Amino acid sequence: MKALVYHGPGKKAWEEVPDPTIRSATDVIVQVDTTTICGTDLHILKGDVPAVTEGRILGHEGVGTVVEVGSAVSRLAVGDRVIISCISSCGSCSYCQERLPAHCLNPEGAPGVGWILGHLIDGTQAEYVRTPFGENSLHKLPEGVSDEAGLCLSDILPTAFEIGVRNGRVEPGDVVAVIGAGPVGLAAIMTVGLYGASRVIALDLDDNRLELAKQFGATDAVNNGSPGWHEKVMGMTDGLGVDTAIEAVGVPATFDASVSLIRPGGTVANVGVHGAPVELPLQDLWIKDVAITTGLVSATTTAMLLKLVAQGKLTPEQFITHRFPMNDFMDAYDTFGRAAETRAMKLAISR
Ligand SMILES: [Zn+2]
Ligand SMILES: [Zn+2]
Repeated sequence: MKALVYHGPGKKAWEEVPDPTIRSATDVIVQVDTTTICGTDLHILKGDVPAVTEGRILGHEGVGTVVEVGSAVSRLAVGDRVIISCISSCGSCSYCQERLPAHCLNPEGAPGVGWILGHLIDGTQAEYVRTPFGENSLHKLPEGVSDEAGLCLSDILPTAFEIGVRNGRVEPGDVVAVIGAGPVGLAAIMTVGLYGASRVIALDLDDNRLELAKQFGATDAVNNGSPGWHEKVMGMTDGLGVDTAIEAVGVPATFDASVSLIRPGGTVANVGVHGAPVELPLQDLWIKDVAITTGLVSATTTAMLLKLVAQGKLTPEQFITHRFPMNDFMDAYDTFGRAAETRAMKLAISR
């Protein structure tokens, strides 16, 4: 088969590799019908994730068709259309039983790490993929849900909902700021309405993304590179700040912005993947009763979000800005890598 293979920092190729085979009785082999590229894949290619070794097939998101099941698999059958979750869950370790498979202890990949696809084992940017613990890590796609909608449930929707909205303790009537209107920020904007936020303020440096944020449900959009942006956002609250600030970028400046907007008793939910330390102004925060949360998605809300997608209450297909055939995988990376120019949000790369 063909796959996108990492060959060390800055090097990748769409090339011929051996087909995956069943290794464990709980494995499922999936023919990948549609996959995509994540910001995390760009981090890997920069060499920021040293656990990814040369020769690894990248990708942790995708939708496909089951082509082979291990002997212990009874709830999935050849021909089923499935969403491949970015988190692989053994279903039986203590973390999986506590509904925190982000830290699954099974030694497939490494114990304590649930994100293994395209990280510690071969991933979804390929014509076929071996998915460990298939019954716990794949979700059957109902009739009527498109590949492109399903694709957004592999990672971005559950990540934004679990780590942004849910960790951010959003409640009905709350004013929420989402800092960063990339795929995960927009997914937070899309799902924050589930908890009844009254006002959702999108912040970004890119006016095009702010325009998009409004289409995803933001009530207000503020360019945080423009003069007076802070006062503008504070003016949209009762003057004390937002109830929840969802940080969806992962750099010190956006973390600082999130902290600067929070009201007493509020929550800063960090979703962004940081590559450098941030300064934590605890001297200002303790007296304001501010909570700061972090996390890696466990993807335990995927089935719930899928029900909402199936009923048309969430429409994640609107994330897809570009479409490529798999044979143009290198072009797809080029387009995604220049997102500011190409206005790429989420790509659908299909067989
Ligand atoms: Zn991802
Ligand atoms: Zn587990």
